[in-house]
Amino acid sequence: MLAMNYRGPYRVRVEEKPMPVILHPEDAIVRVTRSCICGSDLHLYHGMVPDTRVGMTFGHEFCGVVEQVGPEVRNLKVGDHVLVPFNIACGKCHFCQQGLFGNCHEANAQATAVGGIYGYSHTAGGYDGGQAQYVRVPYADVGPTVIPDWMDPDDAVLLTDVVPTGYQAAEMGGIKRGDTVVVFGAGPVGLMAAKSAWLFGAGRVIVIDSQDYRLEFARVFAHAEVYNLREIDDMAVFLKKQTDSLGADVCIDAVGGDAVGNGLQWLLGTKLKLEAGNAIALHWAINSVKKGGIVSIVGVYGPTGNIIPIGNVVNKGITIRANQASVKRLLPRLIEHIRLGHINPKAMITHRVPLEDVADAYHIFSSKLDGCIKPVLIP
Ligand code: NAD
Ligand code: ZN
Repeated sequence: MLAMNYRGPYRVRVEEKPMPVILHPEDAIVRVTRSCICGSDLHLYHGMVPDTRVGMTFGHEFCGVVEQVGPEVRNLKVGDHVLVPFNIACGKCHFCQQGLFGNCHEANAQATAVGGIYGYSHTAGGYDGGQAQYVRVPYADVGPTVIPDWMDPDDAVLLTDVVPTGYQAAEMGGIKRGDTVVVFGAGPVGLMAAKSAWLFGAGRVIVIDSQDYRLEFARVFAHAEVYNLREIDDMAVFLKKQTDSLGADVCIDAVGGDAVGNGLQWLLGTKLKLEAGNAIALHWAINSVKKGGIVSIVGVYGPTGNIIPIGNVVNKGITIRANQASVKRLLPRLIEHIRLGHINPKAMITHRVPLEDVADAYHIFSSKLDGCIKPVLIP
């Protein structure tokens, strides 16, 4: 079969790989029909995630058709159209039992923090991902969810990650009616966080990014007030001015620690005196939130991004909430929001690219070219 193959930082290509096989009685094999590239894949692509091995296939946002099931799979049958959450989770361990499917202990026993994730390095279990024609799906009774007949597959594929992640970012923000919410990052995750903030009762939603085309999209898609960070001298001062000097009630970091390739190079070494990979958006979130406010982090941080103004966290009594999204827990609610027309995730898909052109797709998404917001690979 054809699969995306990692060769090293900024080098990916499509290669012939052996077909995946059932390794455990609870596995299934899925034929992939859509597979997105995520901002999280860019951290891998930029070489920021430890133990990302040459030869690995990325891809944790995919949907497709069940081709084969192991003898102990009960909830799926061959031919089912399924969306597959990015978390690989056993459904039975201490963490899964609490709905923390992003922290499953069984799917990634070596890890101290994250659970298993498709195509996300050996730090997340070493599983091959779905940017391929076929993929092995472990614990097939737990994650995969049959796509309702009425649902557009473009919405379904976005339910595997960015929709629940953005939604959970807003949920972790503990938004109260009338709150001012600032979202850093207008990528698919930030866009969904901004959109979801309204569902939790926000009174004002502000989105910050460096890319005008994404800000314009956020203004229309998420009805947000938008500001280009390039035009702002001091983020905390600016946002205090916007919020009666108090600061935002909730700040959401939908950027992460990887500043490479996101158009921020101009800032580095000049204005902020921060080195590439430092947690600029997180600094801003902590410094711009109200005293007693909440900072919600869904941006992913590798080793280079682990520098935060922790003194201010303590002195301001800020609550920081963060996690990998727990997709399965949120799916019933989000499916209902889509059915009722409250959210329209598929509007974020700007590029449909044959799997063969995976290198172009990564380049365009990483460099924010051609108005790209969310690319989908079609195997
Ligand atoms: P993306 O790369 O498409 O978007 C990131 C956006 O942030 C870009 O538009 C970029 O211009 C903007 N940006 C960069 N620096 C900024 C700054 N200092 N302030 C404001 N905006 C800034 O990525 P995405 O797919 O939207 O993902 C966003 C983050 O969420 C990534 O770190 C990704 O790894 C993470 N993520 C986390 C989870 C989870 O479960 N926690 C799931 C999916 C993605
Ligand atoms: Zn993702």
